[in-house]
Amino acid sequence: MKSHYRICPVCEAGCGLEVSVDGTEVVRIRGNTNDHFSEGHLCPKGVALADLHTDPRRIRKPQIRANGETLEVSSDAAFAEAGRRLAAVRARYGNDVVANYVGNSTAHNVGLSMGLGTFARGAATRNLYTASSVDQLPKQLAAELMFGNDMALAVPDIEHTDCLLILRANPAVSNGSLWMVPKFREKVRAMRARGGALVVVDPRRTETARLADEHVSIRPGAMPGCSRHLSICSRSQGERCRPRIARTARRR
Ligand code: SF4
Repeated sequence: MKSHYRICPVCEAGCGLEVSVDGTEVVRIRGNTNDHFSEGHLCPKGVALADLHTDPRRIRKPQIRANGETLEVSSDAAFAEAGRRLAAVRARYGNDVVANYVGNSTAHNVGLSMGLGTFARGAATRNLYTASSVDQLPKQLAAELMFGNDMALAVPDIEHTDCLLILRANPAVSNGSLWMVPKFREKVRAMRARGGALVVVDPRRTETARLADEHVSIRPGAMPGCSRHLSICSRSQGERCRPRIARTARRR
């Protein structure tokens, strides 16, 4: 049996995988304990990659649909057919009828990422959608405005912070998404052991809220007002109107 060390491509947490194989068969996938970043952490999706790999429904060869039937064809034939149909649609409706969508597994694949720009330029469409479109563009805009680079993403320094305020996020499940924080639960426990505190503001008692020292359950839809209030208070009213996070920190 041989082991291969890879990175899970499913989300930004980028957990290190140890993939054990016997010939071409994947025998086991587990977290790579020597991975400095994830330290052996894997969520169920990482473990399930072996099932994905062997799923008989997985499409392993290019296919085209013709006369109501799906046919396996060569890559050259598939590209030629896609090009022919795309060209016909663009000729009829204009370039913007095409939309690109980039999902996580594309963004985490070097080959696909490199080809993406070429494809997007060739498609000459202004319609580009990504996983970022639905969950992180405000963060990227803030990074662009603050640091001049939309990918210069500031993340919480949980290993060195004393008090962590989380507004409407659930890193215990998401592993932080852009934050990329595998082993979030263990990191919260370590912060608490140092005397730190976790405060979660969320209408729902999320998995992260259940770990918190204090869960502030605001009304659904109240987050914009809450964020604005926190911002104004911290800038203009100082000690008199410190948010709960500071009170919690002082209590500890
Ligand atoms: S958190 Fe799960 S899905 Fe994300 S990289 Fe790690 S194992 Fe993969």
